[in-house]
Amino acid sequence: MTPRQSALLTALLSQPTAPFRETHVIGLVTRTLAQAGVPFFEDPVGNLIVGVDSRQAYLQRVKQVSKEPVRVFIAHMDHPGFHGTRWVAANRLKLKWHGGSPVKHLAGARLWLADDHGVIGQGRLSRPALNKGKWAIDTAEVVIPVAELPNKRPAARSLYGGFEFRSPVWRGGRRLYTRAADDLAGVFAILDTAMTLFKGKTRGARPPFLGLLTRGEEVGFVGAVGHFELGWLQQHRRPVVCVSLEASRTLPGAAIGKGPVVRLGDRRTVFHADGLKVLADVAGKVLKGKHQRRIMDGGSCEATAATAYGFPSIGMSLPLGNYHNQGFEGGPDCKAPGGPAPEFVSVDDIEGELKLCLALMREGLHWGEAWGDTRERLVKNFMKYKKFVG
Ligand SMILES: [Zn+2]
Repeated sequence: MTPRQSALLTALLSQPTAPFRETHVIGLVTRTLAQAGVPFFEDPVGNLIVGVDSRQAYLQRVKQVSKEPVRVFIAHMDHPGFHGTRWVAANRLKLKWHGGSPVKHLAGARLWLADDHGVIGQGRLSRPALNKGKWAIDTAEVVIPVAELPNKRPAARSLYGGFEFRSPVWRGGRRLYTRAADDLAGVFAILDTAMTLFKGKTRGARPPFLGLLTRGEEVGFVGAVGHFELGWLQQHRRPVVCVSLEASRTLPGAAIGKGPVVRLGDRRTVFHADGLKVLADVAGKVLKGKHQRRIMDGGSCEATAATAYGFPSIGMSLPLGNYHNQGFEGGPDCKAPGGPAPEFVSVDDIEGELKLCLALMREGLHWGEAWGDTRERLVKNFMKYKKFVG
């Protein structure tokens, strides 16, 4: 990774974010794209569309007659976290949690607290109550040291937050520890890919690329569904393939540091066989021996949402430690197994993913005829044994 890439990744991983509270990520992404001369705009749901500057340009891109499919790279800008609901005492804020979370060793855990202007302080988690399924926090309180509170107490509903550690992001060997690798690392991969594709291009450049940076993924792909409900992508006249970029819970066969994962499916479904063949072939060429392949069924991802809308979809995953800040793998700043912990990913896996994203943008990949070579080989073999079947 170059110093510029590394700085952007660190800056992204430092942004406070929670479902529907993606303002700071959006701010950094839009400043970065504007500076790099990459077109973008906000869709009516508040997602960021990268690679075109308007609805009209988006529709042109998907309606253009071409054999090259538009690759729609999808990543989400939120991470599980909480919204303030009301002040229950001078320095106690009641909160509602959105998305997954640890469910053990919660009381006293450190939390960060932000509003749309920035991080305003820290607090401690108190009185946690789990949701019905007992897989995440439902409500709790944040106790904020009085010294941390601004003179004028902010409106409860303007505040949001999540688990806090020694720093928003830090390096340990080849690992990056952070509050929210899921899915800010995916957002980074899309930004970096877009900047490479548009580098030195004129304003009219039209690579078959769209980035869809979504909101509210952690509570059921809300941004992605909102986007598909607009009906824009359905107007395509050229092939379309959705590519979900995620950080997903590390599993046997998807080890941290052994390369990005060609994601064959998620917890809900397998993905598109033709698209996956192209992705697997590309990975075999550019990341020989340095990628992994499996169904990542530790969670579901936006490729499932895209599949539900009938779009051919595939995925890539970064194997993720301490998924949704649950201390499954432990490590630094994880005080007790299963308790709050920083997520972690490997820098090498991110570098591999960048290579894979760019390679997937190459012209002339066998999208329409992905299984052609396999069929040829099978037919050859069939001819050899034909005499036995008459
Ligand atoms: Zn995610």
